[in-house]
Amino acid sequence: MTDCLFCKIVSGDVPAKIVRESAGTVAFRDINPQAPTHVLVIPREHHPTAGELAASDADLLAEVVREAHQVAADEGIAETGYRIVFNTGAQAGQTVFHVHAHVLGGRGLNWPPG
Ligand code: AMP
Ligand code: ZN
Repeated sequence: MTDCLFCKIVSGDVPAKIVRESAGTVAFRDINPQAPTHVLVIPREHHPTAGELAASDADLLAEVVREAHQVAADEGIAETGYRIVFNTGAQAGQTVFHVHAHVLGGRGLNWPPG
């Protein structure tokens, strides 16, 4: 998708602080971090939401989640605790419609979220 911000990060047309890459995914630091660790994991292919990716390529969704856990391990928060969030739809706060897993941690996280 030529007008998709995260496709442009995958292609290198928009810079990002990339922390991990796998065959199907790229992980990079959120530009507006909400916690000491705030990394986004995205599939290289464009899929709008987690639900649509689950329906079309469940293995790729599993790769996104595996990589999200690996980010947490790399950041040293796999043991203390972290959160993986897929905001889905406008009311849930999704602003970029290229599916992304937020990996958040490094501080106490409230539940339920606001
Ligand atoms: P969401 O609101 O769930 O769609 O999440 C989109 C996230 O992308 C937000 O947390 C933004 O801060 C983040 N974001 C937007 N533009 C960029 C960018 N150029 N590089 C890294 N993160 C970004
Ligand atoms: Zn995209």
